[in-house]
Amino acid sequence: MPKINVLPKSLAELIAAGEVVERPASVVKELLENSVDAGATNITVEIKNGGISYIRITDDGCGIAREDIRNAFISHATSKISTPEDLDSILTLGFRGEALASISAVARVEIMTRTAEEETGTRYIIESGEEILLDDAGCPCGTTLIIRDLFYKTPARMKFLKKDITEANAVAGVVDRIALSHPEISIRFIRDGKQNLLTSGKGDLLSCIREIFGKEFSSALIPASYIGQGVEVSGFVSKPSYSRPNRNMQFFFINNRLIKTATGSAAVSEGYKNSIMVGKFPSCVLNIKINPSLVDVNVHPAKTEVRFSDERVIFNAIFYACKNALSAGDTPVQIQQKAKLPQDFYASPPEPVHQIKITETIKPKKDFWQNISVKVDKIEKTEEKKVEFHKFNDEITTPVTVVRSPEPQTPEIDDIDDILLNSPSVNKFVKEVQIQESVVSEQENDIIVEHKQDVEESDTSVIFEEELFHLVGEAFKTYIICEYKGKLVIIDKHAAHERIIYENLKSSSSQRTPQMLLSPVTVTLSKEEYSAVLDNIGIISQAGFEVEDFGNGCVIVRECPMEIDRDDVEEIISEIAGRFVEKKQDVSFEKLDWLFHSVACRSAIKAGNFTSRYEMERFAKQLLSMPDIRYCPHGRPVLVEMTKRELEKSFGRI
Ligand code: ADP
Ligand code: MG
Repeated sequence: MPKINVLPKSLAELIAAGEVVERPASVVKELLENSVDAGATNITVEIKNGGISYIRITDDGCGIAREDIRNAFISHATSKISTPEDLDSILTLGFRGEALASISAVARVEIMTRTAEEETGTRYIIESGEEILLDDAGCPCGTTLIIRDLFYKTPARMKFLKKDITEANAVAGVVDRIALSHPEISIRFIRDGKQNLLTSGKGDLLSCIREIFGKEFSSALIPASYIGQGVEVSGFVSKPSYSRPNRNMQFFFINNRLIKTATGSAAVSEGYKNSIMVGKFPSCVLNIKINPSLVDVNVHPAKTEVRFSDERVIFNAIFYACKNALSAGDTPVQIQQKAKLPQDFYASPPEPVHQIKITETIKPKKDFWQNISVKVDKIEKTEEKKVEFHKFNDEITTPVTVVRSPEPQTPEIDDIDDILLNSPSVNKFVKEVQIQESVVSEQENDIIVEHKQDVEESDTSVIFEEELFHLVGEAFKTYIICEYKGKLVIIDKHAAHERIIYENLKSSSSQRTPQMLLSPVTVTLSKEEYSAVLDNIGIISQAGFEVEDFGNGCVIVRECPMEIDRDDVEEIISEIAGRFVEKKQDVSFEKLDWLFHSVACRSAIKAGNFTSRYEMERFAKQLLSMPDIRYCPHGRPVLVEMTKRELEKSFGRI
């Protein structure tokens, strides 16, 4: 057995430091908490290089007396508790006496401090746990701590730090949270010489939220409160119409301490049930006041995880606070500008053409919606005319001439017909169908059946045979019904549109046509999301969004994919940001499938929405020209077909 050594103090402190000091943000959290506990009313946080090279925190709190200064840097030395019983009534943010010792074990620390009782202040320097200087200093009442070169002696830890900007944003996230939990303290945050945040310290939570997250976010909030069962909840929750795709803007505090609480999040979701769409989450800033003996904050060194003696009481209090807020404060959404129309498939009706000849010049492989110029020669007219034409998925190698033929083919695809014929839902559907316009007469139908195709057709053909198409109408505002090549075709308009958008989004950015937003959209994010977006701006741009840093937790979106409605941009960016935070490094363009799914689903015309006949016709034609598009991104079919023969069979005609 190797000999058992009692580790030297410096090494033991280094190990312990790992639990408290993970990155600059955790240093700032500990020091800010100390300033709050010291009763400061003004605190300034300044960082350089993400806090890795420099952090300075100045407060006007009680200061540390000369005789206590050395003790403050010893492990488990604290002025906040002295007996085991004190652990049951912790109202200060700190109590473990570990932070200063841990920080000074892994960085160069300088402190200048003076209490109100002292005439002269103290300057103390400690580096890697070694005292360097203890001297007089002329300084105001309060404390200034400067932390230089974090982890300079522990390169292994240094390696885990991210880029300066990411670390700085993590620090900003901490400052935001401490400021939110103490609106009575004026907090200033200076980042690389620039002031990023200044809260007034007036004690009004809503003003504080506005100072941190901006007017747009704060004006979407409604007050929430509840008192009962020994718990008091107060704060703000968002109106249901301003919900987000994740919980990153939910902030919970217990006795003004920032905590993570799954119970709190679950209670908020329950409170919003039936007021908010599934998969959407409200934002909130809620402070829970509870007798400190009913909560154990000594679960983890970071002190953000807590244990309640009765989770149900907390759940109920938050639940009722949300319910009360919603019944009192959720005024109907004001329609600000245009009424939102369903996504328009096409810009304007094309000029009707009769016999057309198309000369292809551009042949991208997978590009469904890119507008390209196609030369159209009207055979009946002599002049040549240029029209906008949607290019479909195809692989044409030679210019094609499409001449409308009066004789189309009516292929029998027995498998699908059998499936359809035996499918009660399709039979039922056919029975229930509400045809908006007259059904094609039998006479007309017969004519179509007699047609023969005279253009060679392959699987990937783009040739749409105009003459063989007839729009019948729409059923249940969901299914477009048409005849094509002698078959009855029923298209699920949402599923089909979704798939087409999905394919387009997936196609490489060079083939996509972005839309420049006339008025760019600003998106307020939590600092972690903000950081994640800035870190992944390249990937987001590949997905079709031009996003720029707008400062202080906001990004500005200037361009987005064509398919996306401006009103959806904010939510989509929040969703992307939330996923990036969740997935951490695991993000790449190839892995953005969830994004394309989500955007496609959101942007596609919805079942139940009104679709004009013109849109239906154009859409059906587009889809029927894309033989590859037969399933939506979730794998459901986008269309079903039935031959005339099968229809007749089901009516016993043959
Ligand atoms: P804890 O906060 O858990 O007590 P720390 O290591 O963070 O432990 O701090 C040790 C002690 O140093 C505190 O208990 C407090 O007395 C003193 N202290 C630290 N920071 C400040 C400050 N900014 N103002 C006044 N006293 C401070
Ligand atoms: Mg502390």
